[in-house]
Amino acid sequence: MDAEDYRLRDFLTRTAQPYEWREAGSPEAEQFLEQLGLRDATLPVLVDGDDVYMEASVEKIAVAWGGLQPPKRTHYDFVVIGAGPAGLAAAVYAASDGLSTMVADRDVPGGQASYTAMIENFFGFPDGIGGAELARLAGRQAERFGAELVLLRGVKGSRMKDHDQPVELILDDGSEVTASVVLAAPGMEWRRLDVEGIDELLGHGVYYGAGRSEAAQCAGQGVVIVGAGNSAGQAVLNFGNATARVTMLVRGDRLEKSMSKYLIDRIREHPLIDVHLETQLTAVHPNGDSVAAATFADSSGKSETRAVDGVFLCIGGRPHTDWCSREHVLTDRAGYILTGQDLLRDGKLPDCWPLDRDPLPLETSRVGVFAAGDVRHGSTKRVAAAVGEGSMVASLVFSRLAELGVAL
Ligand SMILES: Cc1cc2nc3c(=O)[nH]c(=O)nc-3n(C[C@H](O)[C@H](O)[C@H](O)COP(=O)(O)OP(=O)(O)OC[C@H]3O[C@@H](n4cnc5c(N)ncnc54)[C@H](O)[C@@H]3O)c2cc1C
Repeated sequence: MDAEDYRLRDFLTRTAQPYEWREAGSPEAEQFLEQLGLRDATLPVLVDGDDVYMEASVEKIAVAWGGLQPPKRTHYDFVVIGAGPAGLAAAVYAASDGLSTMVADRDVPGGQASYTAMIENFFGFPDGIGGAELARLAGRQAERFGAELVLLRGVKGSRMKDHDQPVELILDDGSEVTASVVLAAPGMEWRRLDVEGIDELLGHGVYYGAGRSEAAQCAGQGVVIVGAGNSAGQAVLNFGNATARVTMLVRGDRLEKSMSKYLIDRIREHPLIDVHLETQLTAVHPNGDSVAAATFADSSGKSETRAVDGVFLCIGGRPHTDWCSREHVLTDRAGYILTGQDLLRDGKLPDCWPLDRDPLPLETSRVGVFAAGDVRHGSTKRVAAAVGEGSMVASLVFSRLAELGVAL
């Protein structure tokens, strides 16, 4: 399939639009075009009720459906960067509390969650909910409360002058808006593992990242954790301490290359943690809808398959922070944004912090710029956690606005 055609289909899926896809050249497609008198039309053709779009593209359809609007104002109380779960939750609560709120996303809403066919561990949905559907509903809710969603138009840069001045944000099309308070919720991209069976089992026992809550749920079960950084080390200990039997797979020949010594010491002493160095995951196997086993191989090619209840891929990723300068918004070494008490070094705030008060929870080193969700250092990398943090920022915005003397 042509890359642009794939992008269009992906757009329809991730915006939770019900659709039927007919492959060009197939008898069904030929017959369909014939019936519409469109045999010579330039493909792809998108038929939406009585409307027909030839040479359809994401941008063409987004415009036709009323999207791709520029921001309506030049200044907002609150601008959110990223319409993933964290950003949408913040927008729902901020807008419902009466703040002028804009959310910009360089893609469609939903973030990573929109790639998930079924989120099974989100509060209130015992039978699970599709990630794209959750995003569609959250986006609608935010708009109903008056938030403006500016889509397919990301934030490409920023200017942060004095701390009591609005933050200036530059959008992909060059237009600019200012905001009294900003939430950075642009998420991250996981480094992907190209291993047989993973994509089919994502969300069904196979996960990128590993939260404490999952560790608690895996008590007495067998799990595989892939990775050798500090987050993998912390995850391994969380699972082991929750009495899961942990198989840790490490590609390198030593943990010391990438993990802190205190974690390594604890891992070595732990009776439930089995570390395999120079070993790679080669396949995950289902039983029905869920993961049932994992196969891994060492450097000599010797492979083993173990029954498992969960596979957690803690192999790191890239947080989306290109739009801000590290001089104002401090990050950890991997690029995740530091907030609140994580900004303290030896009990001291960074030199760039200008106020007498400490940063608020989830506030970055730039006063009035908050961070929530996966982009934040120490975040849980789950939908519910992102939603919780986004919602929390929506109320913290008021403290900052009061400090600025903004009348609401
Ligand atoms: C395949 C997969 C399956 C998953 N399954 C589950 C699951 O079952 N349960 C669960 O709890 N979690 C799951 N997760 C994790 C969960 O999706 C994330 O933890 C959650 O989406 C994080 O939300 P977020 O809002 O912080 O960031 P994201 O979801 O990453 O959203 C960030 C948004 O910001 C946008 N953005 C980035 N840069 C910019 C910019 N410069 N300007 C404007 N916009 C920008 C992106 O386009 C994106 O829409 C899964 C993740 C993946 C990848």
